[in-house]
Amino acid sequence: MSDQTSQRPTRVRVDLGAIGHNLEAIRRHTHTAVMAIIKANAYGHGLLPVARHLEGCRVDQLGVAFVEEGITLRRAGLSVPILVLGGMFGRQAAQYIAHDLEITVSSLDKLRQVEAAAESLGRKAVVHLKIDTGMERIGVHSYSCKPFINAAMQSRWCTVKGIYSHLACADDPESEMTLQQLERFLEACAHIDALDLPMPLRHLANSGGVLHFPQTWLDMVRPGIALYGALPDPASQRTIDLRPALSLVSQVVYFKVVRAGNTVSYGATWRAEQDTRVVTIPIGYGDGYPRSLSSRGEVLVRGQRKTIAGRVCMDQFMADLGPAGTAYNEDEVVLIGTQGNEALTVEAVAEAAGTIPYEILTGLNERIPREYVGG
Ligand SMILES: *Cc1c(COP(=O)(O)O)cnc(C)c1O
Repeated sequence: MSDQTSQRPTRVRVDLGAIGHNLEAIRRHTHTAVMAIIKANAYGHGLLPVARHLEGCRVDQLGVAFVEEGITLRRAGLSVPILVLGGMFGRQAAQYIAHDLEITVSSLDKLRQVEAAAESLGRKAVVHLKIDTGMERIGVHSYSCKPFINAAMQSRWCTVKGIYSHLACADDPESEMTLQQLERFLEACAHIDALDLPMPLRHLANSGGVLHFPQTWLDMVRPGIALYGALPDPASQRTIDLRPALSLVSQVVYFKVVRAGNTVSYGATWRAEQDTRVVTIPIGYGDGYPRSLSSRGEVLVRGQRKTIAGRVCMDQFMADLGPAGTAYNEDEVVLIGTQGNEALTVEAVAEAAGTIPYEILTGLNERIPREYVGG
Protein backbone atom coordinates (compact mmCIF):
# COMPACT_ATOMS: atom_id res chain seq x y z
CA MET A 1 0.00 0.00 0.00
CA SER A 2 1.45 3.39 -0.93
CA ASP A 3 1.85 6.20 1.59
CA GLN A 4 -0.97 8.11 -0.06
CA THR A 5 -3.51 5.33 0.05
CA SER A 6 -2.58 4.20 3.54
CA GLN A 7 -3.60 7.63 4.80
CA ARG A 8 -6.99 7.42 3.26
CA PRO A 9 -9.60 7.05 6.02
CA THR A 10 -11.93 5.13 3.72
CA ARG A 11 -11.38 1.39 3.80
CA VAL A 12 -12.87 -1.91 2.89
CA ARG A 13 -12.35 -4.12 5.91
CA VAL A 14 -12.47 -7.82 5.13
CA ASP A 15 -12.95 -10.41 7.84
CA LEU A 16 -11.24 -13.52 6.46
CA GLY A 17 -12.43 -15.42 9.51
CA ALA A 18 -16.01 -14.81 8.38
CA ILE A 19 -15.21 -16.23 4.92
CA GLY A 20 -13.66 -19.31 6.54
CA HIS A 21 -16.70 -19.65 8.78
CA ASN A 22 -19.06 -19.41 5.81
CA LEU A 23 -17.07 -22.03 3.87
CA GLU A 24 -17.28 -24.37 6.85
CA ALA A 25 -21.01 -23.68 7.31
CA ILE A 26 -21.66 -24.48 3.63
CA ARG A 27 -19.62 -27.67 3.87
CA ARG A 28 -21.48 -28.84 6.95
CA HIS A 29 -24.80 -28.00 5.30
CA THR A 30 -24.19 -29.72 1.96
CA HIS A 31 -21.61 -32.46 2.70
CA THR A 32 -20.26 -31.97 -0.80
CA ALA A 33 -17.05 -30.65 -2.26
CA VAL A 34 -16.97 -26.85 -2.57
CA MET A 35 -15.76 -24.75 -5.46
CA ALA A 36 -15.39 -21.27 -3.96
CA ILE A 37 -16.20 -18.61 -6.53
CA ILE A 38 -13.76 -15.70 -6.37
CA LYS A 39 -14.33 -13.94 -9.69
CA ALA A 40 -14.48 -10.12 -9.88
CA ASN A 41 -11.79 -9.52 -7.25
CA ALA A 42 -13.46 -12.06 -4.96
CA TYR A 43 -16.71 -10.07 -5.11
CA GLY A 44 -14.77 -6.95 -4.14
CA HIS A 45 -13.04 -8.60 -1.18
CA GLY A 46 -9.63 -8.86 -2.87
CA LEU A 47 -8.65 -11.77 -5.14
CA LEU A 48 -5.32 -12.86 -3.69
CA PRO A 49 -5.92 -12.51 0.07
CA VAL A 50 -9.23 -14.34 -0.25
CA ALA A 51 -7.77 -17.04 -2.49
CA ARG A 52 -4.85 -17.62 -0.13
CA HIS A 53 -7.15 -17.81 2.85
CA LEU A 54 -9.45 -20.30 1.12
CA GLU A 55 -6.49 -22.41 0.08
CA GLY A 56 -5.43 -22.40 3.73
CA CYS A 57 -8.95 -23.60 4.61
CA ARG A 58 -8.39 -26.50 2.20
CA VAL A 59 -11.13 -25.53 -0.18
CA ASP A 60 -11.54 -28.20 -2.87
CA GLN A 61 -11.44 -25.87 -5.80
CA LEU A 62 -11.59 -22.20 -6.82
CA GLY A 63 -13.68 -20.74 -9.62
CA VAL A 64 -12.98 -17.53 -11.54
CA ALA A 65 -14.66 -15.92 -14.55
CA PHE A 66 -11.72 -15.17 -16.84
CA VAL A 67 -8.46 -16.85 -17.73
CA GLU A 68 -6.60 -13.69 -16.66
CA GLU A 69 -7.91 -14.10 -13.13
CA GLY A 70 -6.69 -17.68 -13.10
CA ILE A 71 -3.24 -16.69 -14.35
CA THR A 72 -2.99 -14.04 -11.62
CA LEU A 73 -3.69 -16.76 -9.05
CA ARG A 74 -1.10 -19.13 -10.51
CA ARG A 75 1.53 -16.38 -10.72
CA ALA A 76 0.88 -15.66 -7.04
CA GLY A 77 1.75 -19.27 -6.29
CA LEU A 78 -1.67 -20.81 -5.63
CA SER A 79 -1.70 -24.52 -6.36
CA VAL A 80 -5.34 -25.42 -5.65
CA PRO A 81 -7.40 -26.55 -8.69
CA ILE A 82 -8.95 -23.57 -10.51
CA LEU A 83 -11.82 -23.67 -12.98
CA VAL A 84 -12.39 -20.75 -15.34
CA LEU A 85 -16.16 -20.46 -15.60
CA GLY A 86 -16.42 -18.10 -18.55
CA GLY A 87 -16.42 -18.91 -22.24
CA MET A 88 -13.05 -19.71 -23.76
CA PHE A 89 -11.69 -18.15 -26.92
CA GLY A 90 -9.74 -20.59 -29.07
CA ARG A 91 -6.66 -18.35 -28.98
CA GLN A 92 -6.55 -18.73 -25.17
CA ALA A 93 -6.62 -22.52 -25.00
CA ALA A 94 -2.84 -22.94 -24.74
CA GLN A 95 -2.68 -20.36 -21.93
CA TYR A 96 -5.17 -22.32 -19.88
CA ILE A 97 -3.19 -25.49 -20.25
CA ALA A 98 0.18 -23.85 -19.65
CA HIS A 99 -1.09 -22.36 -16.37
CA ASP A 100 -2.78 -25.53 -15.24
CA LEU A 101 -6.25 -23.95 -15.34
CA GLU A 102 -9.33 -26.10 -15.82
CA ILE A 103 -11.34 -25.13 -18.88
CA THR A 104 -15.07 -24.69 -19.28
CA VAL A 105 -15.78 -26.34 -22.62
CA SER A 106 -19.07 -25.02 -23.91
CA SER A 107 -19.32 -26.31 -27.48
CA LEU A 108 -18.00 -28.99 -29.79
CA ASP A 109 -15.94 -26.37 -31.65
CA LYS A 110 -14.30 -25.24 -28.45
CA LEU A 111 -13.61 -28.84 -27.49
CA ARG A 112 -11.73 -29.26 -30.77
CA GLN A 113 -9.76 -26.06 -30.11
CA VAL A 114 -8.76 -27.33 -26.67
CA GLU A 115 -7.74 -30.68 -28.13
CA ALA A 116 -5.58 -29.01 -30.77
CA ALA A 117 -3.84 -26.84 -28.17
CA ALA A 118 -3.32 -29.80 -25.83
CA GLU A 119 -1.86 -31.91 -28.62
CA SER A 120 0.55 -29.19 -29.69
CA LEU A 121 1.71 -28.73 -26.07
CA GLY A 122 1.84 -32.48 -25.57
CA ARG A 123 -0.12 -32.07 -22.37
CA LYS A 124 -3.69 -33.07 -21.58
CA ALA A 125 -6.24 -30.39 -20.77
CA VAL A 126 -8.54 -30.70 -17.77
CA VAL A 127 -12.06 -29.65 -18.73
CA HIS A 128 -15.57 -29.27 -17.36
CA LEU A 129 -18.42 -29.68 -19.83
CA LYS A 130 -20.94 -26.83 -19.73
CA ILE A 131 -24.53 -27.82 -20.34
CA ASP A 132 -27.18 -25.15 -20.91
CA THR A 133 -30.35 -26.12 -19.07
CA GLY A 134 -32.16 -22.80 -19.40
CA MET A 135 -29.82 -19.92 -18.67
CA GLU A 136 -29.09 -19.45 -22.40
CA ARG A 137 -25.69 -17.96 -21.64
CA ILE A 138 -22.95 -20.43 -22.56
CA GLY A 139 -23.11 -24.18 -22.87
CA VAL A 140 -24.48 -26.88 -25.13
CA HIS A 141 -28.26 -27.18 -24.93
CA SER A 142 -29.23 -30.14 -22.81
CA TYR A 143 -31.60 -31.33 -25.51
CA SER A 144 -28.81 -31.73 -28.05
CA CYS A 145 -25.73 -32.44 -25.95
CA LYS A 146 -25.25 -36.14 -26.61
CA PRO A 147 -22.71 -35.87 -29.47
CA PHE A 148 -20.81 -33.23 -27.50
CA ILE A 149 -20.67 -35.42 -24.42
CA ASN A 150 -19.63 -38.46 -26.41
CA ALA A 151 -16.85 -36.57 -28.15
CA ALA A 152 -15.54 -35.11 -24.90
CA MET A 153 -15.66 -38.36 -22.97
CA GLN A 154 -13.71 -40.10 -25.72
CA SER A 155 -11.21 -37.31 -26.26
CA ARG A 156 -7.54 -38.31 -26.14
CA TRP A 157 -6.42 -34.84 -25.15
CA CYS A 158 -9.04 -33.86 -22.59
CA THR A 159 -9.64 -35.19 -19.12
CA VAL A 160 -13.26 -34.50 -18.29
CA LYS A 161 -13.11 -33.64 -14.61
CA GLY A 162 -16.57 -32.12 -14.35
CA ILE A 163 -19.92 -31.54 -15.97
CA TYR A 164 -22.01 -28.56 -14.95
CA SER A 165 -24.80 -26.16 -15.59
CA HIS A 166 -25.93 -22.86 -14.09
CA LEU A 167 -29.19 -22.08 -12.34
CA ALA A 168 -31.14 -19.00 -13.39
CA CYS A 169 -33.67 -18.71 -10.55
CA ALA A 170 -32.35 -20.55 -7.49
CA ASP A 171 -32.23 -17.34 -5.42
CA ASP A 172 -36.00 -17.73 -5.26
CA PRO A 173 -36.81 -20.72 -3.01
CA GLU A 174 -40.12 -21.22 -4.85
CA SER A 175 -38.69 -21.33 -8.36
CA GLU A 176 -40.02 -24.16 -10.48
CA MET A 177 -37.45 -23.47 -13.12
CA THR A 178 -34.72 -24.73 -10.78
CA LEU A 179 -36.26 -28.20 -10.63
CA GLN A 180 -36.74 -28.17 -14.39
CA GLN A 181 -33.08 -27.26 -14.88
CA LEU A 182 -32.03 -30.03 -12.49
CA GLU A 183 -34.06 -32.55 -14.46
CA ARG A 184 -32.49 -31.43 -17.76
CA PHE A 185 -29.04 -31.58 -16.22
CA LEU A 186 -29.51 -35.11 -14.92
CA GLU A 187 -30.75 -36.19 -18.35
CA ALA A 188 -27.52 -34.85 -19.83
CA CYS A 189 -25.48 -36.74 -17.22
CA ALA A 190 -27.35 -39.91 -18.14
CA HIS A 191 -25.58 -39.86 -21.53
CA ILE A 192 -22.35 -40.48 -19.63
CA ASP A 193 -23.88 -43.35 -17.69
CA ALA A 194 -24.89 -44.84 -21.01
CA LEU A 195 -21.24 -44.81 -22.09
CA ASP A 196 -20.40 -46.85 -19.02
CA LEU A 197 -17.61 -44.46 -18.11
CA PRO A 198 -16.91 -43.02 -14.64
CA MET A 199 -19.08 -40.01 -13.90
CA PRO A 200 -17.16 -36.73 -13.71
CA LEU A 201 -17.99 -34.29 -10.89
CA ARG A 202 -21.52 -33.02 -11.38
CA HIS A 203 -22.01 -29.46 -10.15
CA LEU A 204 -24.98 -27.18 -10.42
CA ALA A 205 -25.70 -25.19 -7.25
CA ASN A 206 -24.78 -21.52 -6.92
CA SER A 207 -25.51 -19.77 -3.60
CA GLY A 208 -29.26 -19.90 -4.26
CA GLY A 209 -29.04 -23.63 -4.88
CA VAL A 210 -26.97 -24.11 -1.73
CA LEU A 211 -29.49 -22.15 0.34
CA HIS A 212 -32.72 -23.54 -1.08
CA PHE A 213 -32.37 -26.68 -3.21
CA PRO A 214 -30.63 -29.72 -1.65
CA GLN A 215 -31.44 -31.77 -4.78
CA THR A 216 -29.02 -29.56 -6.74
CA TRP A 217 -25.99 -30.15 -4.53
CA LEU A 218 -24.85 -33.31 -6.32
CA ASP A 219 -21.04 -33.78 -6.13
CA MET A 220 -19.87 -30.20 -5.68
CA VAL A 221 -21.44 -26.78 -5.03
CA ARG A 222 -20.30 -23.40 -6.38
CA PRO A 223 -21.17 -20.70 -3.87
CA GLY A 224 -20.12 -17.13 -4.52
CA ILE A 225 -22.10 -14.47 -2.68
CA ALA A 226 -22.95 -16.77 0.25
CA LEU A 227 -19.27 -17.28 0.94
CA TYR A 228 -19.04 -13.57 1.62
CA GLY A 229 -22.03 -13.71 3.95
CA ALA A 230 -24.58 -12.01 1.72
CA LEU A 231 -27.84 -13.31 0.30
CA PRO A 232 -28.39 -13.47 -3.47
CA ASP A 233 -31.85 -11.90 -3.39
CA PRO A 234 -34.32 -10.29 -0.98
CA ALA A 235 -36.50 -13.39 -1.51
CA SER A 236 -33.67 -15.69 -0.37
CA GLN A 237 -33.78 -17.44 2.98
CA ARG A 238 -30.95 -17.50 5.48
CA THR A 239 -30.97 -21.31 5.84
CA ILE A 240 -27.28 -21.30 6.78
CA ASP A 241 -25.53 -19.25 9.48
CA LEU A 242 -23.59 -16.84 7.27
CA ARG A 243 -21.49 -13.94 8.52
CA PRO A 244 -20.95 -10.81 6.44
CA ALA A 245 -17.25 -10.53 5.63
CA LEU A 246 -17.04 -6.98 4.31
CA SER A 247 -17.41 -3.59 5.95
CA LEU A 248 -16.99 -0.23 4.30
CA VAL A 249 -15.93 2.55 6.62
CA SER A 250 -14.81 6.16 6.35
CA GLN A 251 -14.48 9.23 8.56
CA VAL A 252 -16.12 12.62 8.82
CA VAL A 253 -13.93 15.11 6.97
CA TYR A 254 -16.13 18.18 7.45
CA PHE A 255 -18.98 19.39 9.68
CA LYS A 256 -21.19 22.40 9.16
CA VAL A 257 -24.64 23.82 9.73
CA VAL A 258 -26.77 24.21 6.63
CA ARG A 259 -29.27 27.00 6.98
CA ALA A 260 -32.97 26.41 6.40
CA GLY A 261 -33.79 26.83 2.70
CA ASN A 262 -30.28 26.15 1.44
CA THR A 263 -29.54 23.21 -0.84
CA VAL A 264 -26.85 20.55 -0.73
CA SER A 265 -24.73 19.14 -3.58
CA TYR A 266 -24.98 19.10 -7.37
CA GLY A 267 -28.25 19.96 -8.95
CA ALA A 268 -29.51 21.47 -5.69
CA THR A 269 -31.92 18.55 -5.38
CA TRP A 270 -31.92 18.44 -1.54
CA ARG A 271 -33.07 21.41 0.55
CA ALA A 272 -32.80 21.90 4.33
CA GLU A 273 -36.25 22.40 5.81
CA GLN A 274 -34.74 23.83 8.97
CA ASP A 275 -31.26 24.67 10.14
CA THR A 276 -29.57 21.30 10.16
CA ARG A 277 -26.17 19.78 10.76
CA VAL A 278 -24.48 18.13 7.84
CA VAL A 279 -21.26 16.15 7.55
CA THR A 280 -19.13 15.45 4.50
CA ILE A 281 -17.69 11.96 3.94
CA PRO A 282 -14.76 11.46 1.55
CA ILE A 283 -15.98 8.63 -0.70
CA GLY A 284 -18.08 8.79 -3.84
CA TYR A 285 -19.09 7.09 -7.04
CA GLY A 286 -15.47 7.23 -8.20
CA ASP A 287 -14.86 4.57 -5.56
CA GLY A 288 -17.87 2.56 -6.61
CA TYR A 289 -20.19 3.97 -3.97
CA PRO A 290 -23.38 4.20 -6.04
CA ARG A 291 -24.70 7.60 -7.09
CA SER A 292 -28.16 6.04 -6.99
CA LEU A 293 -27.93 6.32 -3.17
CA SER A 294 -28.30 10.11 -3.54
CA SER A 295 -30.80 11.39 -0.91
CA ARG A 296 -31.83 7.76 -0.26
CA GLY A 297 -28.96 5.81 1.22
CA GLU A 298 -28.07 5.74 4.89
CA VAL A 299 -24.83 5.72 6.86
CA LEU A 300 -24.03 5.12 10.53
CA VAL A 301 -22.57 8.00 12.52
CA ARG A 302 -22.19 7.79 16.29
CA GLY A 303 -24.27 4.64 16.29
CA GLN A 304 -27.23 6.20 14.49
CA ARG A 305 -28.62 5.93 10.98
CA LYS A 306 -28.34 9.16 8.99
CA THR A 307 -29.64 9.83 5.49
CA ILE A 308 -27.53 10.98 2.58
CA ALA A 309 -28.27 14.61 1.71
CA GLY A 310 -28.33 15.37 -2.01
CA ARG A 311 -26.33 13.79 -4.78
CA VAL A 312 -23.37 11.54 -4.18
CA CYS A 313 -20.39 13.22 -5.88
CA MET A 314 -17.37 11.48 -7.41
CA ASP A 315 -15.22 11.67 -4.27
CA GLN A 316 -17.49 12.80 -1.44
CA PHE A 317 -21.05 13.05 -0.26
CA MET A 318 -22.99 14.69 2.55
CA ALA A 319 -25.22 13.21 5.24
CA ASP A 320 -27.84 15.01 7.29
CA LEU A 321 -27.44 14.62 11.04
CA GLY A 322 -30.63 16.59 11.79
CA PRO A 323 -30.98 19.83 13.75
CA ALA A 324 -29.57 18.37 16.97
CA GLY A 325 -27.11 15.85 15.56
CA THR A 326 -23.49 15.97 16.53
CA ALA A 327 -20.32 14.61 15.01
CA TYR A 328 -16.72 15.65 14.96
CA ASN A 329 -14.11 15.54 12.28
CA GLU A 330 -12.58 12.06 12.12
CA ASP A 331 -15.62 10.36 13.62
CA GLU A 332 -16.01 6.92 12.10
CA VAL A 333 -18.72 6.59 9.44
CA VAL A 334 -19.95 3.12 8.53
CA LEU A 335 -21.37 2.72 5.02
CA ILE A 336 -21.65 -1.07 5.15
CA GLY A 337 -21.32 -2.95 8.43
CA THR A 338 -22.13 -2.38 12.07
CA GLN A 339 -21.58 0.42 14.54
CA GLY A 340 -22.85 0.29 18.10
CA ASN A 341 -26.17 -1.50 17.96
CA GLU A 342 -26.96 -0.53 14.38
CA ALA A 343 -26.25 -2.52 11.24
CA LEU A 344 -26.27 -1.44 7.62
CA THR A 345 -26.22 -4.62 5.57
CA VAL A 346 -25.06 -4.83 1.99
CA GLU A 347 -28.55 -6.14 1.21
CA ALA A 348 -30.08 -2.90 2.60
CA VAL A 349 -27.58 -0.73 0.73
CA ALA A 350 -28.33 -2.62 -2.48
CA GLU A 351 -32.05 -2.20 -2.03
CA ALA A 352 -31.69 1.56 -1.42
CA ALA A 353 -29.54 1.77 -4.56
CA GLY A 354 -32.04 -0.20 -6.61
CA THR A 355 -29.65 -3.08 -7.27
CA ILE A 356 -28.36 -6.36 -5.82
CA PRO A 357 -25.58 -7.00 -3.29
CA TYR A 358 -23.39 -8.45 -6.06
CA GLU A 359 -23.22 -5.12 -7.85
CA ILE A 360 -22.50 -3.15 -4.67
CA LEU A 361 -19.68 -5.50 -3.60
CA THR A 362 -18.00 -5.91 -6.97
CA GLY A 363 -18.33 -2.18 -7.64
CA LEU A 364 -16.07 -1.16 -4.71
CA ASN A 365 -12.96 -0.48 -6.70
CA GLU A 366 -9.22 -0.47 -6.20
CA ARG A 367 -9.18 3.19 -5.10
CA ILE A 368 -10.36 1.96 -1.69
CA PRO A 369 -7.60 0.29 0.36
CA ARG A 370 -8.43 -3.18 1.68
CA GLU A 371 -7.63 -4.16 5.24
CA TYR A 372 -7.68 -7.80 6.38
CA VAL A 373 -8.53 -9.18 9.77
CA GLY A 374 -9.00 -12.70 11.06
CA GLY A 375 -6.58 -14.29 8.55
C1 LIG B 1 -20.89 -16.47 -10.45
C2 LIG B 1 -21.15 -17.90 -10.61
C3 LIG B 1 -21.45 -18.71 -9.49
C4 LIG B 1 -21.64 -18.15 -8.09
O1 LIG B 1 -22.88 -17.47 -8.04
P1 LIG B 1 -23.45 -16.93 -6.66
O2 LIG B 1 -24.82 -16.53 -6.98
O3 LIG B 1 -22.59 -15.76 -6.28
O4 LIG B 1 -23.34 -18.01 -5.67
C5 LIG B 1 -21.58 -20.07 -9.69
N1 LIG B 1 -21.46 -20.61 -10.93
C6 LIG B 1 -21.21 -19.87 -12.02
C7 LIG B 1 -21.11 -20.52 -13.35
C8 LIG B 1 -21.07 -18.48 -11.91
O5 LIG B 1 -20.85 -17.75 -13.00
